[in-house]
Amino acid sequence: MFPVIETIPLRQMASGDRLFLQLYKFIGAQPGKKVYIQSNLHGAEIAGNAVIQQLIEFLLTINDTHLTGEIWLVPVCNPMGTNERAQHFSPGRYCVYEAKDWNRIFWDYEKEADDLVAFTKSQLHNDLEVVRQNYLTIIKQQFAKNLEKINSFSSVAYTELFRYKLQSISLDADYLIDLHSSNNQGLDYIYYFRNREESAKYFLLDLGILLDKYDGDAFDEAFIKPWLALEACFQDLGREIKFDIEAWTLELGAGMQMNLDSVAKGVRGVKNYLAQKGVLKIPNFSSDTKTQDMNFVSSGNRKKYYAIAGGMIQSRIQLGSTVKAGEKLYKILSFNKESQLPTLIDVCAEQDGLVYDVATNQAVNQGEFVLGVIS
Ligand SMILES: [Zn+2]
Repeated sequence: MFPVIETIPLRQMASGDRLFLQLYKFIGAQPGKKVYIQSNLHGAEIAGNAVIQQLIEFLLTINDTHLTGEIWLVPVCNPMGTNERAQHFSPGRYCVYEAKDWNRIFWDYEKEADDLVAFTKSQLHNDLEVVRQNYLTIIKQQFAKNLEKINSFSSVAYTELFRYKLQSISLDADYLIDLHSSNNQGLDYIYYFRNREESAKYFLLDLGILLDKYDGDAFDEAFIKPWLALEACFQDLGREIKFDIEAWTLELGAGMQMNLDSVAKGVRGVKNYLAQKGVLKIPNFSSDTKTQDMNFVSSGNRKKYYAIAGGMIQSRIQLGSTVKAGEKLYKILSFNKESQLPTLIDVCAEQDGLVYDVATNQAVNQGEFVLGVIS
């Protein structure tokens, strides 16, 4: 099957040139769930672009009868971030002009939903699908106010325009997948939200991190938080419900790199997820659930180690190692201007855990990120 390809204007630059988004829509023969997948929101995190390209290649080989619902794919979803350079490095995590993280800018209906209890009471005896439609209608109505602001003479700062473009094509999705990597060098893992462990396993990764401690306004959070809030409100009023709405952030290896193994894991995971969710119905497709060896941890148990002194990192523990409290993590080669000899400072683990992320740059100013341990 061949996708519908839409080119969406994003921004006009001072030079008159324009930036665009390109959306690939694969539309199945039967209506069903909408899946939205984007990559490269953070400019250095490029591996997901290869995942999307390989998913497109794969979808081209199947018939529309093998797809129930729609799969929308947006590679290189943040041209400003992707194209940014500091010499040959790609920073790309922040909108420099507004000093904002590109993944902490999104519109979150939950923050505006001040009458959620009243809404829930009005829906208490409705069918789940009716509740979903009614709630989505309200979310869309509120979201439309963003466009009024954009189109006014005073308009909005670019991050608000940018978020509108991405959210306007993803807000009504059932399943949303945001493909990231470490900014540095990380393991391949998935961020998930509460009560979604079973589906998290479909991605066939070794590590799942529950986002129980929000950073705020990330793309996945802004999408799913209103639905989690509604589920919680129903629960408070005595009815247990769970929407078949899911948001995922996949972390695929290192920044500035197309790690082949990370890309392959991303493709395998997304394909298996789509098959398990019934979006792809392909005869003889070998789907898999790796139930026994996925390690689930909470984001609140992440410990980031920041450099206790300025210097050069040496003898650092390998990415993917497990450590025990008290074991050495790394040394800092530290210089001074106090007529003293250079020193080597040992830094030890404060807790047991898995080293899931390490800095690419082995020169650190005091207070810069060196590595992350999760337990
Ligand atoms: Zn990222």
